[in-house]
Amino acid sequence: MDTLILYILWFVAGAVLGSFLNVCISRIPRGRSVVSPVSSCPHCRQPVRWFDNVPLLNFIWLRARCRSCGRRLSWRYPLVECLNGAGYLAVAAAFGFGVNALVYASFVSALLVAAVIDFEHLIIPDIIALPGIVVGFFASAFIVPVGWLGSLIGIALGGGSLWLLALISPYLFGKEGLGGGDMKLLAMIGAFLGWQAVIMILFLASFAGAVAGVALMAFHRIERGHYLPFGPFLAGGAVAVLFLRRELLGIYEGLFW
Ligand SMILES: [Zn+2]
Repeated sequence: MDTLILYILWFVAGAVLGSFLNVCISRIPRGRSVVSPVSSCPHCRQPVRWFDNVPLLNFIWLRARCRSCGRRLSWRYPLVECLNGAGYLAVAAAFGFGVNALVYASFVSALLVAAVIDFEHLIIPDIIALPGIVVGFFASAFIVPVGWLGSLIGIALGGGSLWLLALISPYLFGKEGLGGGDMKLLAMIGAFLGWQAVIMILFLASFAGAVAGVALMAFHRIERGHYLPFGPFLAGGAVAVLFLRRELLGIYEGLFW
């Protein structure tokens, strides 16, 4: 029973922080402060009242509309709150309620912000990935069981592999496919999860990205040669490896041994 309450608290904490992450997602790409002013409606600029600031539930009682002007609010707000809440719940279930879980909860939130910003703006801001590399390195060195060396190689391999790919991709595919943001994001992921995870994530993200690209072209949602953001796939791969590393290794060995 006590554990159930703890799980619920972790979900609620994740959803509440998720509403702050929404502010980050809206403001960081525009270079605006994430602390002031208070949130406002994107249509009429009317500030959000404190009693309308309850994550997830506000969307239900306001029926996805602004209280002042009545225009529709993006589904992105409840989605980010819900995903962050679910992420924290999964972290608590997989790593307990200790300091390891706090490290991975902040990792999941950083991935979520980077993925949604990349999806909406096709950029991954340095303000997320660069501090993330530093935090991930120190967390791996002193808290989570990765170790400083595994983390350091992870940073080098994550950044280096995509740097190399970006260097040769104009010759291979005749266009620039990867941005500097992708490199820094994978370096951050390597810092938190170590170099072995980087290899798995590159494999998963490339595979999922290729499948999604072909599917979107087949349904004429994108045209050949259009740019699909890679950040959401890297972030998704990182979350998959964080929670399912052993299962994924089992599948991999089943395929090749
Ligand atoms: Zn409004």
